[in-house]
Amino acid sequence: MSGQMSRQEFVRRAVGGLAGAALLGACRTGTPRAVSSPGPPDWAGLRGRLDGPLFLPSDPQYAAAKDTFNSRFDGSVPAAVLAAVSVADVQKAAEFASSNHIGVSVRSGGHSYIGASSLPATLVIDLRRLPGGVDAGGDMMTVSPATDLDSVQTALAPRSRLIPSGSCPTVAVAGLTLGGGLGSDARLHGLTCDALVSAELVLPSGEILSASADDHPDVFWALRGGGGGNLGVVTSMTFRTFPSTDRDVVTVAFPMDAAAAVIAGWQQWQQAADRDIWGMVNITVGDGPGRCTVILATPPGHGPAVAGDMLAAAGLSASSTRTRTLDRMDFVHYFEGGDSARVPRAFVAGSDIIGEMTSTAAESIVTAMASWPGGAGSATAVVESLSGAVGDVDPAASAFPWRRQAASVQWYTEALSDAATDWLTAAHRALGSASVGGYINYPESGDPLARYLGPNLQRFNAIRHTYDPAGVMLSGIAG
Ligand SMILES: Cc1cc2nc3c(=O)[nH]c(=O)nc-3n(C[C@H](O)[C@H](O)[C@H](O)COP(=O)(O)OP(=O)(O)OC[C@H]3O[C@@H](n4cnc5c(N)ncnc54)[C@H](O)[C@@H]3O)c2cc1C
Repeated sequence: MSGQMSRQEFVRRAVGGLAGAALLGACRTGTPRAVSSPGPPDWAGLRGRLDGPLFLPSDPQYAAAKDTFNSRFDGSVPAAVLAAVSVADVQKAAEFASSNHIGVSVRSGGHSYIGASSLPATLVIDLRRLPGGVDAGGDMMTVSPATDLDSVQTALAPRSRLIPSGSCPTVAVAGLTLGGGLGSDARLHGLTCDALVSAELVLPSGEILSASADDHPDVFWALRGGGGGNLGVVTSMTFRTFPSTDRDVVTVAFPMDAAAAVIAGWQQWQQAADRDIWGMVNITVGDGPGRCTVILATPPGHGPAVAGDMLAAAGLSASSTRTRTLDRMDFVHYFEGGDSARVPRAFVAGSDIIGEMTSTAAESIVTAMASWPGGAGSATAVVESLSGAVGDVDPAASAFPWRRQAASVQWYTEALSDAATDWLTAAHRALGSASVGGYINYPESGDPLARYLGPNLQRFNAIRHTYDPAGVMLSGIAG
């Protein structure tokens, strides 16, 4: 559908053998230290015990089975890929990996920025064939972990229900929730992980464990924002759902030289705005003149007035404003960005969390964008407020720590070259002390877990070590 635009698509359109297995040691990043092996893994024996197919590098289906959304990581060579069709398959694979000292990568939607669902030399447990789908009734929904966000919202929409979630149609509910889950309903209903009521997971021992506020609350704490690929393999998730309504979407464009004032003014206004008003700022540089836009989502019929309120409060003048009123699924499709958003691609991306959006912090985001080299293609920054219901949860009450901070900034480019990674480094440097960390669902290779979990790192690590003492589960993030 023309006119639809997901956050990522928004960004995208704007920017135009290891033969053996990963042996566990001290590291959880997927580049494990070699330790003494119990002998070559008996893959044939495992294959004979499974209901789902197991693909080894010699199998013709292996390449398709292992590749993930960010094709930068297509060169990764996992030891094997299991397309699990039952929880029993997951249990057998987890036990096999543990007893053979092989690291596990879990794959749900495969959208990890750093290829963490198909790490080199690991046993990949792919959950896309697990049965379950979406089972919704009343104000609850139980869902299979690899269910994509479009399927979740499509199943809920006829009941006029939703869960707060991200925008990409093919991101899976598990990876999104385990890292937090930021989207256009966050100011009203919180993060996706805030709607999680309970989960079932298979531990590296093969044991099945339930987690909720009353049942293994430590695990439940860690599953809400600590990031995927830790503790165990989540095989089922139950969420509270919320009523859905039509929404106005307003696109407000600004001259590029107003970008810093737009970020600071929008943020200040957004923080005090009603919770059913959400917005993000998008700044794009590179091919053509720079662009600065605010996208607002408001109650139906209120879009123009809300946009006017923002402009007046922030003392801004728009170069153009466009409003559409959309029913629930048109709203979802608008932010998804159409069929092209489903196509895997190579990209470099990362994030910063802004503690306080001072005018200096806003200017530093613009400075970071100005450091994008001319002629290298395009790059985008997306700024999202962490205000509203996100802050209703105490920062220590779940693993997601950024509940008293101002905003998340996502840096994104599909212009692949050294320029992209150099730009990310320059962007972090430009932000300096305005940045207090990063969002774990937008991770960067080589960053320590401390950058993403901040003050919650120690508790998270203690829980992780309790349930996965040998470090079988690999997240691609060290720490
Ligand atoms: C195009 C695009 C759009 C995005 N839009 C948004 C957005 O709007 N809002 C937002 O907050 N984020 C967004 N993200 C980031 C997204 O939330 C993360 O990339 C998320 O981790 C992807 O989850 P996945 O299941 O699709 O990916 P996967 O690569 O399968 O998993 C991601 C991580 O979680 C682990 N994991 C997956 N399933 C399980 C499980 N069942 N049990 C244990 N560990 C598991 C994996 O091992 C991996 O470490 C977007 C990403 C992309 C690529």
